[in-house]
This record gives sequence, structure tokens and C-alpha cells, in this order.
Amino acid sequence: MSQLIPHSQQAAVVQNPGESYKVVLQHDIPVGNPGPDEILVKLHCTGICHSEVRAVLAWGAYNSIIGHEGIGTVVQTGDNVSASLLGKRVGIKWLYNACTECSVCQRGFANNCAKQLNTSRHVPGTLQQYAVADAKFISMIPEGVSDEVAAPLLCAGLTMAGALGHLDNELQPGDWVVISGSGGGLGHIGVQLAARVKKLRVIAVDSGDAKRKLSLESGAEVFIDFKTEDVVARVLELTGEGAHATVVVPGTKEAFKTASTLVRNMGHIICVGLPRNDIELPISATLCAARALTIKGSSVGTEEQMAELLQLALEGVITPAIEVFDFEEAPNLINKIMDDAIIGRAVVRIPN
Ligand SMILES: [Zn+2]
Ligand SMILES: [Zn+2]
Repeated sequence: MSQLIPHSQQAAVVQNPGESYKVVLQHDIPVGNPGPDEILVKLHCTGICHSEVRAVLAWGAYNSIIGHEGIGTVVQTGDNVSASLLGKRVGIKWLYNACTECSVCQRGFANNCAKQLNTSRHVPGTLQQYAVADAKFISMIPEGVSDEVAAPLLCAGLTMAGALGHLDNELQPGDWVVISGSGGGLGHIGVQLAARVKKLRVIAVDSGDAKRKLSLESGAEVFIDFKTEDVVARVLELTGEGAHATVVVPGTKEAFKTASTLVRNMGHIICVGLPRNDIELPISATLCAARALTIKGSSVGTEEQMAELLQLALEGVITPAIEVFDFEEAPNLINKIMDDAIIGRAVVRIPN
């Protein structure tokens, strides 16, 4: 098979990260060479995560090839990897690999390993034709789930499965959860999971008619437009004492600012959104204690949650809303995401 693999390939490359960043399509990017525990994947498509905004604006150190929701076919295996993986359809996620030995990995939460390496951060991402992945951390994509449907599940879906998973032992079916950013790539999958799988009563918060429609179709009982309505007053009116929990998805200061006022005493706040690193949680320590609030951070999810999610997609329970773009449109896509111009998740087709 290896003779079919070219030496160079097309990739979308971030240049000059910061306020004047550019994403440029290049044809001369070397194809990676898988190491002993790695595989080479020929990509079919990739989802584009909102967190790529952090990469292009240089809010941290990222790889110049972004993307961490890649679906493709294994075309080459490293020395220690079973050749039975060749030809299999796999997903490449944010978690490139983890140490597998620390206490966190041993508990089954490699996604929280302090030594983890990330796709599109420490190693090149999935906006290219061929990507190298660690064979132990890829996800097998079930037949019957299309590439474009599977891609957004790898980060957006998994992130919401991880976030809502923190509430499994805390909330009962019929309890209220507020999901802010409900019409976005992550939010709408979170609404589907919360309403259809966890049987929670979902109050969706976002803005505009398209996001209202997507949130309600995804299973939200109520939609509140934060630009035209008083979110806190509406939530209190609906729930009496406040919601049992809120999942804060947008990476904005405002979304975190109101979170504690949306939940009742002993309520749960799950922090998912990734604002600029200097933005801190605006919450009174005294009120946090007096109201017995739980604040939890959540970053993607476990491999078990990934497998469950793909199964739910296969059964048609989880149906991500996607907007598919050609590779040539990749340079403008991050701007569109920043302008909030995508409903659901952007998925880019990778040229054959
Ligand atoms: Zn992501
Ligand atoms: Zn570890």
C-alpha cells in the first residue's frame, strides 16, 4: 500500500497567528511518517472546532495545521501496530495520546492526563490529506455512520458527552439543565444528549431564529434568546428555584458571569467554553460556599463515552447538524466561525 502514498500533500496552514493571521492552502507539505506505535490516516473530512479560534489568534501554542475531528482510512501502520488496522475507517481526536500510567489515566480519564499530547497542538491536525495518529487513541467508526456525521462527534459531541457525564450521579430525569450556546456545534449535540438520552428538561440559551430552531429541534423544552430576553428572570420563572445544573459552552466572559445565578442551591456549573486565558470565573467565594454550589471543569470525554456516542449516532438518536465546506473554503472558515455564521458544525471535505 505504501507505494500509493505520496511524499507531499495539500494542507491548510495557519500563518502569522494573531490578529492578522491567515490560513493558506499549500500543496507542498510533507506527508508524515508513522513511528512504531503510530498509523498514517488518509483523511476524508474534518470537523472544525470553535477552539481553533484560540490557535489562529495565538491564545496558546498550537500547530500550524489545525483540525482535530478527522475521519479517514488507515493506509500505513507502524512496526508495533497490527496490520489488521489497514483499510479501517477511524477518527482522529483532540487527544493524540496520553501517558496511560498516571493516576488519572489509570482511573480511565486519559482525556485529563497532565502529560497528554493533542492533535493540532503538539502534532499536526486534520486539515491535511494525511495525518499521523497514535494507534491506541483513535476511534473506530461504525459502518452506517457517515464521515460527515461522525466528524463532529469526535470533539463537539465527545465534549458534551463528557460534560453531561459529570451530572449522571447528580441529576434525575426531569431535572432542569440550562445549556448556553445551545445552537452551536457543541451546544446542539449537548441538547440532544441531555433531552433524548439523559431525559433532562433543557432550557436552551443562544440567539437568533436559526439557533432557536436547531435548539428546539434538538429537544430543548424552552429557548431563551439572550440578546432580547432576560435569561435569569426567565430561568427562575420556569424552574422556580433555578435550574439543577448549567453547562456553559460559549467561550465568553458573559456566559460564565451569569452561570451561578441560573442554578438553585446545591446546583452544578459545568465549565466547557474556553475564553481567553486571563478570563477568570466571576463568582463570590462566600456565595459558592453558602449556596453549596459545585463548579466543575470538563475537557472532552473518555473513549467509552466516544463509543457510546457513535452508537447513538448509528441508532439515529444523536443527529449532528452539519454544514459541509470544500477544502478551498477552509481559509475563510475560522472567520465565519468567529462571526457566529455557522449553524451547527462546519465540516470540511478533504481532497482525494
Ligand atoms: Zn475541539
Ligand atoms: Zn496519564
